[in-house]
Amino acid sequence: MSKNNDVPQAYVKQEEGYRIKALRLYPWVCGRCAREFEYSNLRELTVHHVDHNHSNNPEDGSNWELLCIYCHDNEHNKYHEHIMYGGSTTDRKVEAATHSPFADLKAMLNKSK
Ligand SMILES: [Zn+2]
Ligand SMILES: [Zn+2]
Repeated sequence: MSKNNDVPQAYVKQEEGYRIKALRLYPWVCGRCAREFEYSNLRELTVHHVDHNHSNNPEDGSNWELLCIYCHDNEHNKYHEHIMYGGSTTDRKVEAATHSPFADLKAMLNKSK
């Protein structure tokens, strides 16, 4: 890999590798609403994993899609509905949400009595 790319070095350091690769590979345009991005608002352009598996990062970019944060949200809302109706996922966020969040709450309520 050469260093001949157009992504600022400071940016490269703080982002995950696949994001940088995707930004090099694809034009900075949202794949849903076609909004265009530049350095100043690049924060709002996110890399979506087409199969929702964040560890599936093929070098050819076939599992990546650049989406603005709004369209990305929509994409994930759809996916979560799918899960509720019997799909399955390895998504970490979902695991965190199902990790009995009320156990601690109950303990707190008992204490405050
Ligand atoms: Zn969009
Ligand atoms: Zn995504």
